[in-house]
Amino acid sequence: MNRTLVAIHAHPDDESSKGAGTVARYADLGVRCVLVTATGGEAGDILNPAMDRPEIVENLPAVRRAELEKAAALLGFSEIVHLGFRDSGMPGSDANAHPDALVNADTEVALNAIVTVIRRERPQVILGYDSHEYYPHPDHLRVHELATEAFTAAGDADAFPVAGPPWQAQRLYAPIFSRQRLVALDEAMKERDLDSPLGRWLARFPEEADTRVDARIDITTTLSRARDALRAHATQVDPDGFWFQIPEEVVIEAYPYEDFALLAGTDGSGSDQDLFAGL
Ligand SMILES: [Zn+2]
Repeated sequence: MNRTLVAIHAHPDDESSKGAGTVARYADLGVRCVLVTATGGEAGDILNPAMDRPEIVENLPAVRRAELEKAAALLGFSEIVHLGFRDSGMPGSDANAHPDALVNADTEVALNAIVTVIRRERPQVILGYDSHEYYPHPDHLRVHELATEAFTAAGDADAFPVAGPPWQAQRLYAPIFSRQRLVALDEAMKERDLDSPLGRWLARFPEEADTRVDARIDITTTLSRARDALRAHATQVDPDGFWFQIPEEVVIEAYPYEDFALLAGTDGSGSDQDLFAGL
């Protein structure tokens, strides 16, 4: 059987921080992986001081697109689909009001675009977002809603008839940051007398965050590539920043997994170590 995974993301760089090692692992196994990026990340600040230069700032959309292409190639995505909406910016920012912003897009138009990709690619597994109580970026919330609706609508022959013949994917997962992962990494850093950057994150995660882990995918063989993909987003990622303060070998010893919540579909064979288990 041809296996296909479609990952739906809000901004360039999200594909490299949410489920990136998992995508790379499935690409290694011959799964066709297709990236859907809803916006161009136009409202993103430059978070890497070394990249905060006028020629970069003026060309930010093109720069971010090139960064995305490099990252997607590292992760093994076969194709990038740009939905072409505008980054809606952080809550309360001016970008929220832009008519092209994803948050202002007509729901039917946005759904039609995503359903078209699902029906063309016929994935068994779709990656969307959870409801992101801990990181309320308007575009992330919007992608959560759209991916969840599109998962069902793509299989409904009466919905979006111009978007192709219906296709029902079997599982919709969201990459999540679980409390158990943060605790394991935080403890591993402290055991090694390293400064843990995770304290403030842990404070934001309630205990019940753990109950949502439906699958844990081993990323031992792809962590390094996932980090390279994140670094490829040079304008968005400070190479000395939070993400890179936990050495790779600590992650691999303490918690070499990415965690997922099942948002829709069947949980199948009972395996929590393979998003395609039993499919
Ligand atoms: Zn984002």
